[in-house]
Amino acid sequence: MRLSRYFLPTLKEAPADAQIVSHQLMLRAGLIRQEAAGIYAWLPLGLRVLRRIEQIVREEQERAGSVELLMPTLQLADLWRESGRYDAYGPEMLRIKDRHERELLYGPTNEEMITDIFRAYVKSYKSLPLNLFHIQWKFRDERRPRFGVMRGREFLMKDAYSFDLDEASARKAYNRMFVAYLNTFARMGLKAVPMRADTGPIGGDLSHEFIVLADTGESQVFCDRKLVEMPAPGGDVDWNDLQSIVDERIALYAATEEMHEAARFEAETDEGDRLTARGIEVGHIFYFGTKYSTPMKARVQGPDGRDADVHMGSYGVGVSRLLGAIIEASHDASGIIWPDAVAPFDVVVINLRASDEGVCNACEDAVNRLEALGKEVLYDDTDERPGGKFATADLIGIPWQLTIGPKGVAEGVVELKRRATGDKLSVPLDEAIARLT
Ligand code: ATP
Ligand code: MG
Ligand code: MG
Ligand code: MG
Repeated sequence: MRLSRYFLPTLKEAPADAQIVSHQLMLRAGLIRQEAAGIYAWLPLGLRVLRRIEQIVREEQERAGSVELLMPTLQLADLWRESGRYDAYGPEMLRIKDRHERELLYGPTNEEMITDIFRAYVKSYKSLPLNLFHIQWKFRDERRPRFGVMRGREFLMKDAYSFDLDEASARKAYNRMFVAYLNTFARMGLKAVPMRADTGPIGGDLSHEFIVLADTGESQVFCDRKLVEMPAPGGDVDWNDLQSIVDERIALYAATEEMHEAARFEAETDEGDRLTARGIEVGHIFYFGTKYSTPMKARVQGPDGRDADVHMGSYGVGVSRLLGAIIEASHDASGIIWPDAVAPFDVVVINLRASDEGVCNACEDAVNRLEALGKEVLYDDTDERPGGKFATADLIGIPWQLTIGPKGVAEGVVELKRRATGDKLSVPLDEAIARLT
């Protein structure tokens, strides 16, 4: 991609109302533009990151056995009346009427709709377990949309829903999502800690929020440092028996403010490991039994021939919020530092003299060779001065910068810089490419 033909509207300074660094950097690096409070246009560079995050989420859902579908953003109010949530949901729900005066809403979540789809087709335990997910825009009319995509009103969520015959198998479905989430966030370079969360009137112990520790987080959290340091289990696990992996983690204290018990925290955690911090909720998993299946009559026939209400869980990931969380965790004074796995481009090739044919040829050769190796390349072919080019490259946080100028062409070398460390190397192009692959 040639920068001269791309659309990368960077800003010298962030608007004053951007309070936290991720919001400031997302505006400055030309990732998003606010169209209304909590509603953003995704500019090309931001969209690339959003798509990469979405793809990691998708792959880990599929690895855990969930199947993708896509439900609409608009839903009928009547469906929500069946569960009783149309009235209960309150002002966060955006309610709409069509030309026939039919009441609709812009979905804040999809339990009712997925239950409706399930009950239309699934009649027997033989179709279970089943787990369905989609990645779709949601709308919640938040009282205080703020911090950019971190608390938007329109935001992209992955939500999965599990269906099982009984609580024991629902727990297995829960464990699969628990492990999928650990792997999902680890692949993005994040340490997301599973913390006991409120289950509301359902009770039980099956609700966890996945929290990224950050000073700008909106939640107060308490946890054992050992849990933060524990590596993700990876995909090579026995997906039918994950209990020990889950147990090993939930044995360590971790709770959000609503669930925190100071006495237990002190009793269960070594003093040096007691961590009190702020955190960002990037995911939430929840077993809620028959809360929706009972009122909505989603029943399956069991092996004994009798019908039973299906046991369900729901599992959300804040896909668009993750951009903010990743930037909060990975930036410096010069800009964003994208982890390789979510970066909008793998490498930016910087042409230091776009008026010099030899330099242009060398740059194009580098771009072509990198693209042939499957790399996503942004080629800064503009005639801006070098200082501005370096500043932009640092700001937008592409993991590798490959710089070519007249001096390097004469000497047969390019400069390769790793954004995260600032380490620079002057090496022949062959060697630079070898390091990039
Ligand atoms: P919060 O406590 O931040 O308001 P929530 O508990 O209301 O979030 P859930 O209903 O659990 O959110 O939704 C699943 C996920 O969707 C959350 O874990 C979060 O990552 C994301 N999410 C929720 N609300 C927003 C929002 N307004 N903007 C961006 N992401 C959001
Ligand atoms: Mg909320
Ligand atoms: Mg919450
Ligand atoms: Mg939540």
